[in-house]
Amino acid sequence: MARYTGPVCRLCRRENEKLFLKGSRCFSAKCAFERRGFAPGQHGKSGQRGGERESDYSRQLRAKQKVRRVYGVLERQFRRTFAIARKTPGLTGLALLVTLEMRLDNVIYRMGLAENRSQARQLVNHGHFLVNGRRADIPSMILRQGDVITLHESARKTTYFKELADVAEKRVCASWLDRDLKTISGRVLRSPERAEIDGNLNEQLIVEYYSR
Ligand code: SF4
Repeated sequence: MARYTGPVCRLCRRENEKLFLKGSRCFSAKCAFERRGFAPGQHGKSGQRGGERESDYSRQLRAKQKVRRVYGVLERQFRRTFAIARKTPGLTGLALLVTLEMRLDNVIYRMGLAENRSQARQLVNHGHFLVNGRRADIPSMILRQGDVITLHESARKTTYFKELADVAEKRVCASWLDRDLKTISGRVLRSPERAEIDGNLNEQLIVEYYSR
């Protein structure tokens, strides 16, 4: 599945806020948004003209782009995820965020087994994980309550996983997941509540965007 391969910090500058896409660098003085906190491109610094009102479409588009960028999903797949959410009973916006959270790459990230979602995606792509005992190398795979994630035997020999327990100890594991750093395994206890998903995402605007 295709993924965004361009400059990552540019995405934060475009959304005019830190999206924390890189990990430890995001908390350091090297963060591009800290150094150049204006939109990228020729007219980035001048920004929106004074007094100009942001249109509804613009707000909806920005809300959608932001969520897409946070989860590292391209437009076509995002649309597909939205279609799944639409068919899910209940609030479509919430179902969209929950579906994105239940992606295998996101779950690996939320367990603290990767520094950011992009690294989690790469680890999954390389076939290092098993879901319910079967090799799972599709980052967009949607997990369910009770699914068990384990490490493939061949991956245990790699330096990354040998050193992971010490590094991951400092990272928080989401409350809706369970992890065991000794065996590098984990389980989906349940799907996340809205309050457990990163705030500042406006799912309602995304529903409006796709309902135009
Ligand atoms: Fe965004 Fe992190 Fe880059 Fe800062 S370092 S601009 S928070 S991705």
